[in-house]
Parts: sequence; C-alpha cells; structure tokens
Amino acid sequence: MRTVQYELMRPPEIVRERSRLPLVLIPIGPIEWHGPHLPMGMDGLHAHMVAVEVAQRVGGVVLPTYYIGSETSAALLGFQGTERIIGMDFPDNPVKSLYFEEGTFAVTVRELIRLLKLDGYRLLVLVNGHGAVNHQRTLQRLAAEESDPPRVRVVFAMAFLPASPPFSDPGHAEKVETSILLATRPDLVDVTALPPKGVPLRYQEFGIVDGKAFDGRPTPDFTVRPEADPREASADLGRKTLSAEVERVVAIVREQAQALGLSPTSRTPAAS
Ligand SMILES: [Zn+2]
Repeated sequence: MRTVQYELMRPPEIVRERSRLPLVLIPIGPIEWHGPHLPMGMDGLHAHMVAVEVAQRVGGVVLPTYYIGSETSAALLGFQGTERIIGMDFPDNPVKSLYFEEGTFAVTVRELIRLLKLDGYRLLVLVNGHGAVNHQRTLQRLAAEESDPPRVRVVFAMAFLPASPPFSDPGHAEKVETSILLATRPDLVDVTALPPKGVPLRYQEFGIVDGKAFDGRPTPDFTVRPEADPREASADLGRKTLSAEVERVVAIVREQAQALGLSPTSRTPAAS
C-alpha cells in the first residue's frame, strides 16, 4: 500500500502525489489527560488513524500529528465551585495536560496552513480528535479565514462521529475512545488501571466523563453512565466506530475536492 505519512515520504513521492491530488490532512489533538487507562496522546492518535485511512482511500498525504490544542472552559462535574479547573485537569490528576493558550494555538495552526498553501496544497483538512468547544471553534474560524475558493479550501473535520441529537458531546476517555484504541493499539490500553467493574467511576476522581455530562446533564452522583463505562469497551466497537468515522471524513473530503475540481481516488475499503 502507498505510504501516505508525509514524514516517511521522499521528495519525488511527495511531488508525484501532490501533482495528482494536492490534498493534505493534518491530524490535531492536545496532549491531554484521558484517565489512568489511556495514553495522554489519545486525541492525536485517534485523529492520525482516521487521517491515514482517509488518505489511503482517497489520496493525498498526512502530516505528522500536531499534539497541540486548547481548552479553557471550566468543568462543572461535581466540584465545589471554588476550584479553578482547566479542561480535564482535575485536582487529583498526577499529570497535567499540555493545553496551549487559545491564541497561541491559533497562531501555530495558521502558520502551518500558510506554509502548506505556499507549497501548493489546495485542499487542507484539519482532522481534529479533541472535543473542547473553544478548540473546535478556533479551528473552524481558521478554516473559514484561510479558505480562498476556488483555489484553496481549508476544511475542519472532526475525527469523532457526532453524538445523537439532542446531545452534542462525544464524551471523554469513556467507552468509545477506549474501544478505538483497543481496536488499533491494544498495547496502549490498560483497563486494569481502573477499579473493578461495578465500582462507580466518579468524574472528578478519574477524569473520565460521559458526553451527556458535558452537555449539562451529569448523573446525580457525578459518576460515568453505565453505557459510557470504559470497562465495557471492546475492539469490535472500536473497529465499527473507526470505519464509520473514516466514511464520514471521506465523504467530506470528496465533496470539497469536487468543489475545487480535483479528482480523489475512488478506492473501496475492500480493494485497498
Ligand atoms: Zn479524547
């Protein structure tokens, strides 16, 4: 199979693919606390997996993951109200997330976009693995500001599937994220770092949160909902989720490529 990872490609390979399809996918996600059972790079790893699969299906190249992101909102998940809480950095966590200040994050991503545009890329896709609202808004704003149709389009694409309405948040370090990594890098998951099944997982103790809680509907005792319990994760759910996520981003890329008059490859998963 063709190498799509930019950092592993030689210049003639890059030039060949760029003349065929000037598409670059940029995986983005901060180094962030994801419970004791998942690695700190979960969001970037996820974004990278989706981006690589998409490029193998439609063409283009994938930049190395940018482990950067922002998170400035305070979580109200059973705290007293007096703590200052940034993102998922709850007071009991032994390791801090490396959130960039929002403006710094925007400047960094904009610089990357500028350089890629100068190098001749016409369709730039920011593949995002992180759920924070201000982080997503920053990327959406950059995509709008840096697009220059009909020559260049910068597109924001979530690696995640959207939550079912009326909910909007996919949750954090819960069953779905754990399943995705179990399907792809089981060596990086350690569910035994969590208490045995049946013991409730308090949001603030573990930094694991179901999406409904982020949507303003935490459980009364501030513990993870059973349907989002990471101890119920499975590689099978991970594979299904990942393939639906890839389908979704493939559709976005095809539509945008067509709008620019570009022709992506039409390779089916079975043929790849
Ligand atoms: Zn995450």
